[in-house]
Amino acid sequence: MGENRDTLVLGIDLGGTKILTAVTNTQGKMLSRDHSITPAKEGQEAVIKSILESVGRALAQAHISTPDLAAVGIGAPGLSNPETGVLFTSPNLPGWKDVPLRDIIEKELGKKAFLINDANAAAIGELYFGAGRGALNFIYITVSTGIGGGIIIDGKIYTGSTGTAGELGHMVIDDEGPQCNCGNKGCWETLASGTALAREARHRIKEGAATSILKHADGDLEKINAEAIHEAAQAGDRLANELIARIAYYLGVGLANLINIFNPEVIVIGGGLSNIGDTLLKPAFKEAKQRAFKQAYQAVRFARAELGRNSGVLGAAAFALEKINEGGTQ
Ligand SMILES: [Zn+2]
Repeated sequence: MGENRDTLVLGIDLGGTKILTAVTNTQGKMLSRDHSITPAKEGQEAVIKSILESVGRALAQAHISTPDLAAVGIGAPGLSNPETGVLFTSPNLPGWKDVPLRDIIEKELGKKAFLINDANAAAIGELYFGAGRGALNFIYITVSTGIGGGIIIDGKIYTGSTGTAGELGHMVIDDEGPQCNCGNKGCWETLASGTALAREARHRIKEGAATSILKHADGDLEKINAEAIHEAAQAGDRLANELIARIAYYLGVGLANLINIFNPEVIVIGGGLSNIGDTLLKPAFKEAKQRAFKQAYQAVRFARAELGRNSGVLGAAAFALEKINEGGTQ
């Protein structure tokens, strides 16, 4: 492995649509990175085969083999237990139920492996290598089609008693709000995500609202997404701006809850919808300020996520590093 005598870790970010695999050192410097499509519809075996193929390419790209790795970290969507390494269920991986994913990967690669929820992995990535560096108490949220999150308390990810803590997007904001995928109503992500933004736009257009949003979506109601609405808003469209303000309002309500409950030093915000930037975030922070305890609001700093699409894969690797430094066994 040439001049590099660093401790090396393999990170795997398993998503519903893509698999990212990377070899990284302890500073979060990636020696290789492999990106491939998740064959989610073909089922569990096909997905695991794809993960292992991706791992093979990432190792080859870094000119190393499995014995050169200190450990393997896996970030996966859905509910999982980091202690047992079992993935219970995942809305993005149809048919997966109680899969011992950690043990499967560990056996295939012959390396100690660790499993963590993907949003928690992203939080750990930002903690070690991104916008949360140096913080002891911090909340990470990713706002895209849904809202995911991770809670860092005293420098460690908080995963709860059975590993499923940090489902920030399913905090109920409106008890009679829209139906959520989780079965509940009015969860934060049904009101403040990209999906919520597009749903409201379609609803208002069907009611006959005057807007240029459709023009930014090829005239197709089904193609309306956060990007199209943001474009229309930038072009001065009144409805588009009103809809973004509504999402910002709900984003702020949820942020106020998090600030009051956790009193964090930093809230790091990532995900596609946050790319709207100040138009969305400034009014959200203002709403949070009006609702949160003054003392707690004054203590918090908001930061944009720094690692982009690499937060999950780097965080999975960092989680594995943290675990082997702790002694490696559960
Ligand atoms: Zn929900």
